[in-house]
Amino acid sequence: MSQENIAKLRCDVCKRVNYQSTRNKKKIKEKLQLKKYCSKCKKHTLHKEAK
Ligand SMILES: [Zn+2]
Repeated sequence: MSQENIAKLRCDVCKRVNYQSTRNKKKIKEKLQLKKYCSKCKKHTLHKEAK
């Protein structure tokens, strides 16, 4: 497994990195966008993949 496959998921509201996910960049070209709970915002927010 390579570090290349680790994607950080960052809250789009407070910009805090709350989750890590894996992504096969060779198979999936799109950036990840997920609705997840942010403990800082105390609600579900959109989390986008960060570098
Ligand atoms: Zn947040």
